[in-house]
Amino acid sequence: MKYPYLTVDLNKIEKNARYITDLCNKKGVEIVGVTKGCCGIPEVANAMLKGGVRYIADSRLNNLKKIRMSGYDKELMLLRMPMKSEFEEVVDIADMSLNSELDTIKELSDIAKYRNKLHKIILMIDLGELREGILIKDLKDYVKQILELDGIEFLGIGTNLACFSGVLPTYKNMKELVDLKYELEDFFNIKIPIVSGGNTSTLKLIEDNELPAGINQFRVGEAILIGRDVSRNRIVPGTYQDTFILVAQIIELKEKPSIPRGKLGRDAFGNIPKFVNKGIIKRAILALGKQDVNIKGLTPLISGIEIIGASSDHLVLDITRSTQEIRLNQEIKFKLNYSTLLSASTSPYITKIFIAN
Ligand SMILES: *Cc1c(COP(=O)(O)O)cnc(C)c1O
Repeated sequence: MKYPYLTVDLNKIEKNARYITDLCNKKGVEIVGVTKGCCGIPEVANAMLKGGVRYIADSRLNNLKKIRMSGYDKELMLLRMPMKSEFEEVVDIADMSLNSELDTIKELSDIAKYRNKLHKIILMIDLGELREGILIKDLKDYVKQILELDGIEFLGIGTNLACFSGVLPTYKNMKELVDLKYELEDFFNIKIPIVSGGNTSTLKLIEDNELPAGINQFRVGEAILIGRDVSRNRIVPGTYQDTFILVAQIIELKEKPSIPRGKLGRDAFGNIPKFVNKGIIKRAILALGKQDVNIKGLTPLISGIEIIGASSDHLVLDITRSTQEIRLNQEIKFKLNYSTLLSASTSPYITKIFIAN
């Protein structure tokens, strides 16, 4: 086995997807499975589908392409607004995309027309988060022009919260979105099939029975992938968190002091490290470092083990209070938070291994 490696438990990911889709489908909300947290691993996309998500979305065309090439035959949604250099590929690879710029939508329409296709779009509305989305005052003007485009199918409206500014989804802002849908339907005398309410952070509204009727789609990644909701710093009830496990090997194990000796400058990353004097402690060094993965989001599975710090290639642990005996060469396992999952997935130094039983 090549260390460090990441195990991907496809069964648990499927179960997370099943739990969340069941919960949301009961309230009339379909789930789109978001794979960007693991760089669009096709096996993960497949586990999500088996767990009941309608189709797959990702922020990157490369990931969508990888999923398509694996034999996936459902629709694909692009989450990040298309950039000019990829407009043609967007139309070729993605069946639908989230959008907020008229010029972009017009170009997508031209390309789709040329390809004899209809590209579906969801128009993103900014409800205060100040990432993507048009302002409410511009909504009717945008929709009027979108409805005139021959290459575009206007699928619906959506919003994204709790990612950039940390604005939480509430009954109030979700109701605002639903009311905008009704207003547009009346004004233009059209039917708007999709109101895409948001990401993992919106699940709490379903759990608390506070989601207004009319929201009928969530785009969910984090809760399915690792059973967590970073926006509220919580575990999503009913889900597994040990879906992805990072495994590294111990290359040094010694008793040493807990504070360094000598005149202190900065560490390899320009920071001034702080140390607590706990006397002599048992220190283990793992062959895993900041070059491999964002170490901040690692949680050791063995309780009592603490992460002291890391440099590019070394992770230093205090194993003095470990509840299990630790030996040289042994492997140590970690759970990951979302940002560490992202970095482990993009890392060429980390082997990926699938578990499915
Ligand atoms: C990443 C992303 C999601 C999924 O977010 P999670 O918090 O992982 O559920 C949904 N919508 C958009 C637009 C995104 O960029």
